[in-house]
Amino acid sequence: MAFSVPDLPYDFGALEPHIDARTMEIHHDRHHAAYVANLNAAVAGTPQADMDINDLVSDAAAVSSPAVRNNGGGHANHSLFWTIMSPSGGGEPSGPLADAMNEAFGSFGDFQSRLTTAAMTRFGSGWAWLSVDGGGLVVESTPNQDSPLMDGRTPILGIDVWEHAYYLLYQNRRPDYVKAFFNVIDWNAVADRYAAAL
Ligand code: MN
Repeated sequence: MAFSVPDLPYDFGALEPHIDARTMEIHHDRHHAAYVANLNAAVAGTPQADMDINDLVSDAAAVSSPAVRNNGGGHANHSLFWTIMSPSGGGEPSGPLADAMNEAFGSFGDFQSRLTTAAMTRFGSGWAWLSVDGGGLVVESTPNQDSPLMDGRTPILGIDVWEHAYYLLYQNRRPDYVKAFFNVIDWNAVADRYAAAL
């Protein structure tokens, strides 16, 4: 069973004006599709082809292969990314996720500034994350297509800071893209991932 690109749960233009339709189309149909095609080529004919993508990315032996690490990470990361954004996103979380965020960071505003700093200080290509580490929350960033799963943590929110994620609309202005991203975060989806990770 080959890996496949999941459908977007909304239209390409649904996240405008924060993320433009052309960027979403190229990002999903070309970038994500390329990671999936390259991953399928890398694992063809091996038991890894039948693994759950998150299990594959969590497997230290599997990700010792650069092709599996980069393309498996790319597939896992983008599959998460599409689902934690929504045209009705934005605002702040509530319930247990908000409580855990207050405990870990002090306030939602403190979380927001930490994630922004993580996204801004990731030099070159990579991701910034909100992850579950044991019972608590951490903000971190990873290079390239590395996933927190590779270090035993469970990502529940991620922002792609590769230039392909924002260059058409924002050019070199990563801070503007990161600021806009907060308007599309689907906190219900993040809360579901938080509950599942515990
Ligand atoms: Mn990307």
